[in-house]
Amino acid sequence: MARIHAEAEINGIVQGVGFRPFIHKRVAEFDLSGEIRNTPFGVSLSLEGERERVEKFLDTLKESAPPLAAIYEIKKSYSEALSGYSGFSIKESVSGKEKRTFISPDMAVCDDCVSELFDKGDRRYRFPFINCTNCGPRFTITRDIPYDRKNTTMENFPMCEKCEAEYSDIDNRRYHAQPDCCGDCGPKLTFLDNNCEEVAGDAIENAKSLLSSGGICAIKGLGGYHLAVRADQRDSVRLLRERKRREEKPFAVMCRDIAVAREVCEISASEEKLLTSPRRPIVLLKKKRKEDFSYISENGYIGVMLPYTPVHHLIMEDGLDFLIMTSANLSDLPIIYKEEEVAESLRSIADGYLINNREIYTRCDDSLVWEYEGREYFARRSRGYVPLPVRVNGLKRNILACGAEQKASFSVSRDGLVFPSAHIGDLKNMETLSCFEEQVEHFERIFDIKPELLVCDMHPDYLSSEYARRRAKRENIPLRAVYHHHAHMASCMADNGVEEKCIGIVWDGTGYGMDGTSWGAEILYGDFKEFERVGTAREITLPGGDRATREISRIGISLLLDSGVSPEEIFGESAGRIKSLIGSNINCPRVSSMGRLFDGVSAIVGIRETVSFEGQAAMLLEAAADESEKVYPYEIENRDGVYVFDFRPMIRKLSEDVKNKVSTSDIASAFMNTLIKSAVETAVKISEEKKCKNVVISGGSFQNMYILKKIVPALRARGLTAYTHRQVSTNDEGISLGQLMIAERGGGEDVSCSAT
Ligand code: ZN
Ligand code: ZN
Ligand code: FE
Repeated sequence: MARIHAEAEINGIVQGVGFRPFIHKRVAEFDLSGEIRNTPFGVSLSLEGERERVEKFLDTLKESAPPLAAIYEIKKSYSEALSGYSGFSIKESVSGKEKRTFISPDMAVCDDCVSELFDKGDRRYRFPFINCTNCGPRFTITRDIPYDRKNTTMENFPMCEKCEAEYSDIDNRRYHAQPDCCGDCGPKLTFLDNNCEEVAGDAIENAKSLLSSGGICAIKGLGGYHLAVRADQRDSVRLLRERKRREEKPFAVMCRDIAVAREVCEISASEEKLLTSPRRPIVLLKKKRKEDFSYISENGYIGVMLPYTPVHHLIMEDGLDFLIMTSANLSDLPIIYKEEEVAESLRSIADGYLINNREIYTRCDDSLVWEYEGREYFARRSRGYVPLPVRVNGLKRNILACGAEQKASFSVSRDGLVFPSAHIGDLKNMETLSCFEEQVEHFERIFDIKPELLVCDMHPDYLSSEYARRRAKRENIPLRAVYHHHAHMASCMADNGVEEKCIGIVWDGTGYGMDGTSWGAEILYGDFKEFERVGTAREITLPGGDRATREISRIGISLLLDSGVSPEEIFGESAGRIKSLIGSNINCPRVSSMGRLFDGVSAIVGIRETVSFEGQAAMLLEAAADESEKVYPYEIENRDGVYVFDFRPMIRKLSEDVKNKVSTSDIASAFMNTLIKSAVETAVKISEEKKCKNVVISGGSFQNMYILKKIVPALRARGLTAYTHRQVSTNDEGISLGQLMIAERGGGEDVSCSAT
């Protein structure tokens, strides 16, 4: 049998995921010889052996790779010239100029490591930084690539002899695990009291006793600090709310295990799969009873995650089953991840600090998902997922898309892949902007991207747009601006590989529209390159502008007035003041917005008069809904070829129901059923006119699972193909993907010259 030499360049997530040991074992199985080395591209593999075996080895490589690995490309070449390797060896990393490798996301501590953690006989018994080739920190500790210990924040911890031996032993499960360490050579935990003085004794025990007594403990995690407090003690949670000035926004909880989570929430088999996956997102789960744990989450869901670091496992080992775990930040600022900031920022919040000396290089918040159709449906795509690329079709250029404002994120592209950033926060202050800029720099470094094109939102005042303009001018890079709702639509198209013209149902709170007003209840028709507005909702007057987004009774009054219902009948005499404000028409912008329609209706129904964060009323309205199939009347008006959803008949009927004391759940369902019916009716009309069956669904309003789960089958029942988000968030976090694809295809407007 003829022997052959093969060279393979393997591009993908193949470093730090046990790829080389896997290859080593496989080479033996196939009876081959050769060598492997990490390269800036991924790994390169030289093999020799019988032709048939070598070919089979390479042809079946992709499917058989280890769980955390992801191969995007294998470049193969064969030759007759043999090097005559004896056995198989792993060579030193080659550090090249081009850095085209991929870094794995941070992964939850694996089951093997957890059993060692609690094994008295193991040398890592209760060692809080235990990890192996299949688990532990990756992205958040990586400073540069290739992914080697010296390029991570583990550089400061030289391995002891024992660890070194494991690291070098191909049969060991810590073979080439870059963050590997032990109690002798690894990082140390320290517990500090509320004066930031080190406390003697076991740090874990100290943290546990603080938490047990109802205290608030700041805990350093993978991508930043959490604030932890017992979730089963209402008063402790209230204290955290007071100190953090987070009165009503839901908290995420960490449950000791799935059994504890089941006591609180309904968990389906596919939800369980997400909860226990090594990516360990926070999964939004339906509470067993809506009214339970309202001090944690006042709506129908609780965000639940399971322990994902050894520290979590140690803290929750006994006694503490159910902890609030919320990102440690001051309101509206990014998550805290540096020791220097902790004492300063959290002094008035935390009663103690569980810190360690392993530096977090890059911050990364917890991811937040719903389970939908058996997979993640993202509200926030961050830890466990970033920096994985998103796959899209036909992408050639290196682009930086700067995103929008709320739930800011950016995306960079290279080699046909898009890399969306981690969660950054609302880009409304300088601290968040500098976090944004740091993350852009880090992404451009680790992916070695120099953008040849920039994209931003059409909104002139977003800090992300300002950043893009500044950079375009400074570095002389072309800049395109994209309309917000076009970007939402394009994001869902890219997410699903839809290329041809389609219908986009895009519902959210606000975005800069083509006529300079604020849009948010749009039905668009188009592709990446161009679009038209084919549907919208009747404009809503916002008395007092932005103030109405907090005092939502103002929107309720405005809706009633517009619909010919006397607002006093529902809001009492206080409605008079708002009525005259609307009459004066001073600071009363008119907007098309699904978010504001939810706000106004929530106020009319009596769910809330004011809200403390965006989306609060909509979540409560969703929680109130039941199985009712009732639909309110509405009209669809054709205004110069644009279908306009006229909600006034609905508001009239709905307010009668309110006056007749019809149950809130009945009204809430009927309201949402009406929105769905009107959207489906409009989509069907457009589909017939345009001879187009594809519908993409995007925008923050589709975080409403009641609507999502009803609108998709309703569209399908009418013969349309409905696409929802799969790889990125449906809210503004997903915008940058759409912007990027629009720019790639030459859509949007060139604003390079108008840079000021
Ligand atoms: Zn492990
Ligand atoms: Zn060691
Ligand atoms: Fe939006």
